[in-house]
Amino acid sequence: MNALPHPSGHAPVHVVVGGGQAAAAAVTAMREAGFSGRIVLVGAEAHLPYERPPLSKEVLVTPQAAQVSIHPEGFYAEKGIECRFGDAAVHFDADERRLELASGETLAFDKLLLATGARARAYPLLDQLGSGVFTLRTLDDAEALRGHIWPGRRVLVVGGGVIGLEVAASAVIMGADVTVIERGARLMARGAPAPMVETLIALHRDKGVTFALGADLVEATRANTREITLSAADGRQFVGDLVVYGIGVELNVDLAISAGLRVEDGIVVDEYGRTSHPDIYAAGDVARQWTPARGTHLRFETWANAQNQGTGVGRAMVTGEPCAFEVPWYWTDQYGHNFQVAGAQEADEWLHRGEPGALKATVFGLKDDVVVGAFTVDNGREMRPARAMIATGHRITDRTLIANPKTDLRKVADGRL
Ligand code: FAD
Ligand code: NDP
Repeated sequence: MNALPHPSGHAPVHVVVGGGQAAAAAVTAMREAGFSGRIVLVGAEAHLPYERPPLSKEVLVTPQAAQVSIHPEGFYAEKGIECRFGDAAVHFDADERRLELASGETLAFDKLLLATGARARAYPLLDQLGSGVFTLRTLDDAEALRGHIWPGRRVLVVGGGVIGLEVAASAVIMGADVTVIERGARLMARGAPAPMVETLIALHRDKGVTFALGADLVEATRANTREITLSAADGRQFVGDLVVYGIGVELNVDLAISAGLRVEDGIVVDEYGRTSHPDIYAAGDVARQWTPARGTHLRFETWANAQNQGTGVGRAMVTGEPCAFEVPWYWTDQYGHNFQVAGAQEADEWLHRGEPGALKATVFGLKDDVVVGAFTVDNGREMRPARAMIATGHRITDRTLIANPKTDLRKVADGRL
């Protein structure tokens, strides 16, 4: 794979805005693809690029063992990547190819990658309480939260999505008394198959978590310096010592919008990661990418997407090759159990390998006998063949064979069975 020569003959400059997973993957891929020009990595946070998944898990529960940096400190200098951390990009002119930073520095670029990700959606009803109210998106958020959870603390978790359930599990492990308050009728409604959610709920209930579903909060008050009361429209009240909320994200698209790029629930990009301007690219949570295999634009908020798309777009910026399509996949760890989810979340039928609800299982989602999705519970080794079966649209002809946990899925996936 060779880097394309720069038409002007000058060493080209790639500027990457965002210091997260997608940005770190992209700058790495640019060098691996043979790009020898200047790379500048601009990140608003004053940290080296780090992994977010441990923030709701190890960083809370076992901080001494948590490893979050994506690359060691020396990596960027070694690869000739200039870093501007703790300095946000505030404006760019796509045609002039100039980017302005909050510090006042201006960077000229040939190509720009926006990997600006997302921020926690704000909940003003709760934020007005001031102290004792937390969200979780950044390392600083996790470190701030950690010091407020200890045995016996009453933690009100608002939002029953992945953040909510992971924080609930971590807080229980830390000895807290947890109530999860969800406005909708279902937990993890946005991104988990229904049978997996049932397993998760049973697990949380077994650990003592209380769930309040269909609770639309209308009031948040503090009775004294400590106690917080949240009231729902139907009269239910929840009393706690602190609130952690995770009600989804807002995408960091302001720069893209003010530069006139096409933005529709994400920065719209083609299969090379190119925005509506040919020299501006986007990747990660913030990008909605054209996916020829699906004939549509798709956007994902997962670690794997940020890593793979960051890598693919970084390489595309150098080689001009399109990104590869990967079957969407994510994991969530709760109470030491590992859940992995791939492909579609909805299915006509769920085919279980193992007992329904078991804490070791692989479950396939089928539509007209074709595998469209899968999840594993503490059975991650079966995720690779399961994803291969989703990718090829594997048709199940023998349900008994697949349902038998002793059947080697790798042989099913590659056609030996
Ligand atoms: P981000 O991680 O959001 O990074 C974007 C970066 O850009 C940020 O640092 C931001 O400050 C910076 N930035 C924004 N605007 C500017 C600007 N103008 N100038 C400079 N910098 C800017 N996914 C999983 O699959 N499994 C998990 O277990 C999992 N756990 C998670 C736990 C938590 C607590 C969170 C928050 C997320 C988790 N995720 C998980 C999701 C996954 O981490 C994200 O999908 C991934 O981090 C997205 O990466 P990104 O680089 O696209 O965006
Ligand atoms: P999610 O979108 O997963 O979940 C938000 C939840 O909050 C939904 O159940 C939503 O319900 C609910 N909600 C929304 N508004 C309200 C409200 N006003 N009152 C009560 N509940 C409300 O987002 P998270 O905040 O959980 O996660 C944020 C980001 O972090 C996502 O990008 C996620 O993918 C990522 N993440 C991923 C993890 C993983 O993959 N393991 C772990 C942690 C975070 P409704 O749908 O009814 O609006």
